[in-house]
Amino acid sequence: MSAAPSATAPDGLVADLVVRAATVLTMGSTELEGPAAVIVRDGLVAGVVPAAEATRYIGPATRVLDAGERTIMPGFVDPHAHVEVASRVASETVDCRAPGRASIDDVCDTLREALPDARDGWIVGQANLFFDQKLRERRLPSREDLDRVSRNTAIAIRAGGHLTVLNSKALELAGITRDHEVVDHSITGKPTVHRSDDGEPTGVVAEMDNLVPWPTLDEGERAAAMTRGIADLFTSRGVTTIGEISETVTGLHAYDDAVRSGRLNSRILVYLWTPGTVSLDQACAHEELLPLEASPDRLRVHGVKMFADGGYSARKAALIEPYLDRAYGRGELALTQPQVATALRRTREAGLQLAIHANGDRAQLEVCEALIAVRDAPGRAPRTRVEHAGNLMPDYHQLTSAWAAADIIPVPQPVFIHNFSEFIPGYVGDYATERQFPFRRLIDDGWALSGSSDVWVGSESCQTEPFFSIRTCVQRRTFHGHELSPEQAISIAEALWMHTVGGATALGVQDTRGSLEAGRYADFLILDANPMHVHPDDLDRIQVDEVFVAGQSVHARRSAPPLTTPHHLA
Ligand SMILES: [Zn+2]
Repeated sequence: MSAAPSATAPDGLVADLVVRAATVLTMGSTELEGPAAVIVRDGLVAGVVPAAEATRYIGPATRVLDAGERTIMPGFVDPHAHVEVASRVASETVDCRAPGRASIDDVCDTLREALPDARDGWIVGQANLFFDQKLRERRLPSREDLDRVSRNTAIAIRAGGHLTVLNSKALELAGITRDHEVVDHSITGKPTVHRSDDGEPTGVVAEMDNLVPWPTLDEGERAAAMTRGIADLFTSRGVTTIGEISETVTGLHAYDDAVRSGRLNSRILVYLWTPGTVSLDQACAHEELLPLEASPDRLRVHGVKMFADGGYSARKAALIEPYLDRAYGRGELALTQPQVATALRRTREAGLQLAIHANGDRAQLEVCEALIAVRDAPGRAPRTRVEHAGNLMPDYHQLTSAWAAADIIPVPQPVFIHNFSEFIPGYVGDYATERQFPFRRLIDDGWALSGSSDVWVGSESCQTEPFFSIRTCVQRRTFHGHELSPEQAISIAEALWMHTVGGATALGVQDTRGSLEAGRYADFLILDANPMHVHPDDLDRIQVDEVFVAGQSVHARRSAPPLTTPHHLA
């Protein structure tokens, strides 16, 4: 720590806004000791200075606010989220997630209470991934459990985006009978109907969510759900920039409307999911085909997202070694090397950042090999991201060598340490033991890591809470409270960096956000405690009292003490 100001605003500058606090964490190259002030001009940080020096930037029209003993830090950056899906699901479903519901009885009680709100004869619940491992009984609710809730109302529980449990009425409405034949493919994969020994459907179905006729929101409700989702899941939790993986074109237009009308305040950088939302050709011509009218510093198409493999729970992540259940082999690759090479060439020409989902080590090696071959392709775009790289690293040296040669940025999800790291060895065996989320080693080796929520269907309720993710980086506690490879823990300062500067670096926008330094966006938070000084157990109890974007207050916590307007600063 140094006493020198991190960035002194130019002499003669008159601020639009000055906010003083007992502590300002800049997350930049220098931190100040003692009370300090953020100097804001034209929506940007002009400097962060010792509080005593702030007076010289105050003119007659300058707004001056004092946060007292509280702490200011940069807004969080979440580089990988599926906000459209998560918001829609939050609006369409009844929350059945563990540990809020600890047992199958709790889940059934929740559904029973929701029966009067059934929509078109349906109640759809949202459960979290690995729901069977998280409930007291260590199994999924059955068709019979749900039939005891109702035989007249169709009930579905979506345990993530792949696995769903249906009651008898829901099976009937979906036309899933004893002799039902499943189609070959749905959007998410190969549909499966689980059956008992006598051939009767058990109620558990996989990859069938788009084939089951539960009601969905209309366009207006969907747009409202997305605006509410951003506010509840992100802005109010201090996330001021989101890297959003697109879902639908209408969803993008809904963001555009909401940003322009001031209903949506976090900044959004969109990665067009290819081919799910648009084709690669359409993505690269997005300016003509998908014009957005909002200011590009608030909403813009920034990249293209592609999937090179699937997930561990469906045993579709592409691994070098086979899954314990040999029927699944080594998982599945969804992209060929020529497809990856073409994607890099095309996106780079279009100035778009390529982000490739590659969960398994085999997928990462394939992707990196393809990228190396086109490393020098012309054009300008931020470095290619590999989503989920850094989560499971069976051979650390092999993977990091490939990442370095391909010049990629690994984008791991610390919150998955909590969500499911302890269940992974059950799928892949010793291959995974002590080889997950080696953050200490990666940081020591110079990798710029970020933290992201990857919020989707079946996420935890805390999944978009940056302080929860930060606590997980520091404590590495699993869902059932075990410590995952504690020697890989990192410090609070490092974890804060991952969720601010690190997130901005993954997006390639570290020059505009992530830290409070001159020239960066004036996106910052007022916290009720200094995260550097709390016990790690208390990290996720820190409250975000107020959120500023471009120097404007966009959220204030209801019971937080208001910022005061002081007569003098010191
Ligand atoms: Zn994702």
